[in-house]
Amino acid sequence: MGRLDRKTALVTGGARGLGRGIVLELANEGADIVIADLLTDVAEQTAAEVRQLGRQVTVVRMDVTDTRSTQTGIQQALAERGGLDILVNNAGVAPVHTGTEADEEDWDRCYEVNLKGIWKVSQAVIPHFVERRAGKIVNIASIAGRRGGAWIAPYNASKAGVISLTQSQARELGPQNINVNAICPGLIWTDIWRAIGGMPEGEDDPVLHERRTYFDKIIETSCTLQREQTPEDIGKAVAFLASDDARNITGQALNVDGGIVM
Ligand code: NAD
Repeated sequence: MGRLDRKTALVTGGARGLGRGIVLELANEGADIVIADLLTDVAEQTAAEVRQLGRQVTVVRMDVTDTRSTQTGIQQALAERGGLDILVNNAGVAPVHTGTEADEEDWDRCYEVNLKGIWKVSQAVIPHFVERRAGKIVNIASIAGRRGGAWIAPYNASKAGVISLTQSQARELGPQNINVNAICPGLIWTDIWRAIGGMPEGEDDPVLHERRTYFDKIIETSCTLQREQTPEDIGKAVAFLASDDARNITGQALNVDGGIVM
């Protein structure tokens, strides 16, 4: 018996990285899955892993910045899976610069994808949750929304906005028996980190080694538990917040960061 048996969860940005970890942990807990992502080829690989766990899975192509795409994607998910119980708003971008200020394009992208994208997908799902008088929403924020770091202001501001949006959604939807919480992940080695300043040529690219050294240094100097976090760590926290074990938790932002922020 899993904590999410007979539930269906839609995860935006579920193709890779944290999203893949969340998808697999929810499936491990018994949930059927909808992966909503721009990268449908990569999403199909993750979907194959879900099927190996014995769960049902649907892949929908979705751009969270596009109203038509989010509405159509949610309608497709509802039609194919017969309903949704859990929404995980995970899709995000992080245009990181080292030593230079972010530009206007970075501001627009962070706002459109990380913050307004959550609002847009939620708007498409909330009427369904309200009709059922049940639902769980988990928004993926970041510790960057808790404490600003240099050269990445648009990302930090968008993630602080996600924490604030989570509180508004929780207050608005609580009377309809809908829980809304956020998770603030710490440091997870994904493509967001690998691509700082441009995607490396391959695993042997010396640039990748430099980035990994930089990442390890941050963990050494800022993380109380002295270890990086993993997509599975984030997935386990999402599974808890999406389960009835967390039925009386709403409007919270949970740090899963090895003790970076406290
Ligand atoms: P990633 O780049 O590996 O994965 C992001 C996923 O989102 C990809 O599958 C991508 O295709 C999808 N995506 C991007 N834009 C989209 C759009 N417009 N519509 C639909 N899908 C879109 O990054 P990740 O590290 O796995 O990040 C996932 C989330 O976790 C993000 O919200 C990120 O801000 C957050 N986060 C990551 C870290 C970290 O250290 N990696 C830390 C804190 C928070």
